[in-house]
Amino acid sequence: MLIEHLNRQLREREAQALKRQRRVAESPCAPHQRVSRDGQPAREMLAFCSNDYLGLAHHPALIQALADGAQRFGAGSGASHLINGHSRAHAALEDDLAHWLAPCIPEAQALYFCTGYMANLALLTALGDAHATIFADKLNHASLIDGALLAKAPLQRYPHRNLATLESQLTRCTTPIKLIVTDAVFSMDGDLADLPALLALAERFDAWLIVDDAHGFGVLGAQGRGSLSHFELKSERLIYMGTLGKAAGVGGAFVAAHPTIIDWLVQAARPYIYTTAAPPAVAHALRESLRLMAGAEGDRRRAHLQQLIGQLRTQLTALLAAHPALGWRLVDSSTAIQPIIVGDNAVTLALAAALDAQGLWVPAIRPPTVPAGTARLRITLSAAHSSDDVQRLVDGLARAAGDLTGALA
Ligand SMILES: *Cc1c(COP(=O)(O)O)cnc(C)c1O
Repeated sequence: MLIEHLNRQLREREAQALKRQRRVAESPCAPHQRVSRDGQPAREMLAFCSNDYLGLAHHPALIQALADGAQRFGAGSGASHLINGHSRAHAALEDDLAHWLAPCIPEAQALYFCTGYMANLALLTALGDAHATIFADKLNHASLIDGALLAKAPLQRYPHRNLATLESQLTRCTTPIKLIVTDAVFSMDGDLADLPALLALAERFDAWLIVDDAHGFGVLGAQGRGSLSHFELKSERLIYMGTLGKAAGVGGAFVAAHPTIIDWLVQAARPYIYTTAAPPAVAHALRESLRLMAGAEGDRRRAHLQQLIGQLRTQLTALLAAHPALGWRLVDSSTAIQPIIVGDNAVTLALAAALDAQGLWVPAIRPPTVPAGTARLRITLSAAHSSDDVQRLVDGLARAAGDLTGALA
């Protein structure tokens, strides 16, 4: 019965062009990557899909730091942080991260997590008790939504970036604790939350602002210090979650906040307490990653990434203007996430397949990851791309757009 039930649902997904498939990367994460699928021989693809925005995932200094960390601290942590898994490497990384956020959150302390998904579940379940209400942007990342659903606190969602609705929800709220939760850079659209306006609302209504900076940490602001720094915000009301597997190129995540909040997470956050600490070598490598990101090499990589973003947007704008019949549109995004909204699931898949045939790997993102009717190609750029790589993508898209327009005519 179970297997029949699941097979029926799998067939339904297939019919709606919603079935997802994995590929196997045969080489490190990089723009030019060998990839295999369905038992076919590996092909070299030009990929525009990773969140490795600075191209650090295969940086020799990080690979070396990971090896050094394993020599010093061993392969595994052996237990959770509250038993004997909390190593000097984790503690030192947390000090570095607290220092990183100190200009934006006075007295901040930091807590390292195995993944951003777990950090968000931890934050929302530990802070969102029966005394609190959670206010969330409708386009927040799945991990924030899941955390809010698991929390005891009631959840109020407001339409994407609609602060007027949020304000009226806050006005009506009667719980003593109010938590506003937002992606800083929305993961499937690339647009920014209006963090200064959100913080102003938090101050007016005595609320707290939880910022998920998965796509801003390492990329935005001076030295890549993230979205809070980009907007030059400073407040004790800010609770910051940054992930370390994207621009930082390694893995894990952290929360930086008022010391009492960190203390409470250590006492009460089940996704923190009941899991084995990440290998200490990962934390050790992350310290090297922070040094790279904050230094001259980070600056060079961010400047190059910014150039590529400008080039891609200019070229895509011209391309879409040349093919109005397709009805594709861009998002008002200034970040490395540059989606092309196509709309229909099957057309989006066909477009991704047409690019695939040209050796270009751009993921088709479909519901439920994005709202129905907004299936898209999610193009992401990395500082490891070259200007020629971007040109190849645009040429490939132009060919696919020409073919699809011909098919429509
Ligand atoms: C990737 C992502 C996460 C999850 O982080 P992981 O470390 O990959 O688990 C959380 N929030 C946002 C907005 C993300 O894009």
